[in-house]
Amino acid sequence: MPAETAAPALPGAQPPGTFTPEQARQDIPILHRTVNGHPLVWLDNGATTQKPRQVIEALSAFYGAANSNIHRGAHTMAREATEMYEAGRAAVAAFLGAEAPESIVFVRGTTEAVNLVAQSWGRSNLGPGDDILVPVLEHHSNIVPWQMIAKETRARVVPIPLDADGQIDQKAYADLLSARTQLVAISQASNVLGTVPPVKEMTALAHRYGAKVLVDGAQAVAHFPVDVTDLGADFYAFSGHKLFAPTGIGALYAKPELLATMNPWQGGGNMIESVGFDRTTFAPPPHLLEAGTGHISGVVGLLAAINWLTSFDRNAIAAYEEALMTYAQQAMATVPGLDILGAAPDRIAVLTFTLAGHDPATIADWLDRDGIAIRAGHHCAQPALAHYGLEFAARASLALYNTSEEVDQLVASLRRLQQAG
Ligand code: PLP
Repeated sequence: MPAETAAPALPGAQPPGTFTPEQARQDIPILHRTVNGHPLVWLDNGATTQKPRQVIEALSAFYGAANSNIHRGAHTMAREATEMYEAGRAAVAAFLGAEAPESIVFVRGTTEAVNLVAQSWGRSNLGPGDDILVPVLEHHSNIVPWQMIAKETRARVVPIPLDADGQIDQKAYADLLSARTQLVAISQASNVLGTVPPVKEMTALAHRYGAKVLVDGAQAVAHFPVDVTDLGADFYAFSGHKLFAPTGIGALYAKPELLATMNPWQGGGNMIESVGFDRTTFAPPPHLLEAGTGHISGVVGLLAAINWLTSFDRNAIAAYEEALMTYAQQAMATVPGLDILGAAPDRIAVLTFTLAGHDPATIADWLDRDGIAIRAGHHCAQPALAHYGLEFAARASLALYNTSEEVDQLVASLRRLQQAG
């Protein structure tokens, strides 16, 4: 008889410890590869983050010894997989400061979370003449789903303007709020300007008008601790892959009292209580909003990523990233012809820039030859770039494992490009 392979242990949460970027780098195998003959300098963290071996090993352990569908099977493997999945839900709830695990819905990522809210909450709560306020700063995934549901419900999507520094114009915001406002959809950190708006204050103001607030946390969660209860957010969305976890998994938080009123947006298995041709009844939330087989291994990976990140001192990470950002801003300012977009005092480490005489695609291509990965394009934030009269820009986005030496390499390569003409 083959020896029984025990189920892998759940990747355990560690008490928060210290933080150095070297500790983080040691855990991330991909940071030790070369690209075009140079050590990889990964400065495309706004697009996606690299994965620690703890996440990679958790995925391998799941598929090597624990793979099963969840909830439905009455066997050991199904029970174990279900436990892991629900442990993931509890970990996400604790990570976000949510009231309970049941206030977390698993989704593919931020985009799906926003679409879920638009299609479920929006379809039942928006009507002709209602306003959805959306800052010009937003990622397309926090604009287009609102435009789609607004078209169906004859509501309006109203842009909240930006000031010259790339901050949300708070006076304009206060003026736009009215009894018509049903929803304010804001990102907690901008993927293109790095701006961190005063979300807590904006949420409190929206609530005075009875509006709900959805916070897009895609660019926030990896950089600083989040507490949805303290923020007062009605909805909060994030993507695992921007948090050192696999692609295809993310989470939506919804206030329990709101979640209880939400209608299903997709039908299928897992979200029902009973199905008959005369009558179908639904499972309670969050399962109501999770039709079909979920991304089980993704949740296992997300749990491992949260445990990895929270094993460090998160305030130390935020302080380190702030210092690295200041260093990068000063170093990049020495490159002739380089302009950094946005100057909000409160920012994550995102440096979107233009370089006189070079289009963003050429800059990215040049840097890539030196093993430096940045992003060039519209960054899925065309209205934000249009605010600066631009269609495209280059973007270096930093994470906890980046170093000042990597910033120096970026700056040196940009200088060489500028000299090459
Ligand atoms: N919101 C912001 C601020 C983002 O930066 C992104 C991705 O870049 C998204 C939403 C969409 O995330 P995803 O593509 O993982 O759904």
